[in-house]
Amino acid sequence: MAARGFMPPAEGVALAVAAESADLSLGALLEVGSYCGKSALYLGPVARRRNSLLYCVDHHRGSEENQAGWDFHEPELVDPELGLMDTLPCFRRTVFNAGLEPWVAAVVGDGPRIARHWGTSLSFLFVDGGHGEEPARLDYELWTPHVAPGGILAIHDVFPDPADGGRPPYEQIYLPALANGFVDLSNTGSLRVLRKEF
Ligand code: SAH
Ligand code: MG
Repeated sequence: MAARGFMPPAEGVALAVAAESADLSLGALLEVGSYCGKSALYLGPVARRRNSLLYCVDHHRGSEENQAGWDFHEPELVDPELGLMDTLPCFRRTVFNAGLEPWVAAVVGDGPRIARHWGTSLSFLFVDGGHGEEPARLDYELWTPHVAPGGILAIHDVFPDPADGGRPPYEQIYLPALANGFVDLSNTGSLRVLRKEF
């Protein structure tokens, strides 16, 4: 897919297949960490086809690794007036061009704060937000309780072998999920798909 972002095609397809397998009568779909909408291009069509809704939670200021001087920085995405990252315009364009606007609801703000006030049960949760230890831990603690029993949890950038990438999504999200009522369904690259047991 053409959008900017961090979702290899095989993992994006696996993400769509996982969402397609969810029982959407259990609630809405939600992703934490949208950036320019690449993963939303895989999840949004599921919401459209099944007459559901995809919430996309992001403050659109970028994660630590997206800031100037870090590996995943894209200078074109800096708001020149504020000198801060702003991926929201790019996200909106991506969603509009894909014809997905009616089925995608951007929720712009701090993920953990939004999670604490969240009240809609989720049939499908995709976690791809900040990959530091604290952000990953908070995403696990605050978002996974909203997954309905029988619902799906997908986690990106899970690397069991430290040689392949950062630890937090594996240690702070994947392992705690397995220890707390989620079971493995599939893995594709760094994408892990689990189901919350009834
Ligand atoms: N899923 C995207 C990549 C997400 S990158 C894709 O397919 O390309 C991670 C995103 O998490 C960034 O856009 C960053 O702004 C967001 N993020 C990090 N910490 C956050 C927080 N505390 N609240 C909201 N969004 C956050
Ligand atoms: Mg990712």
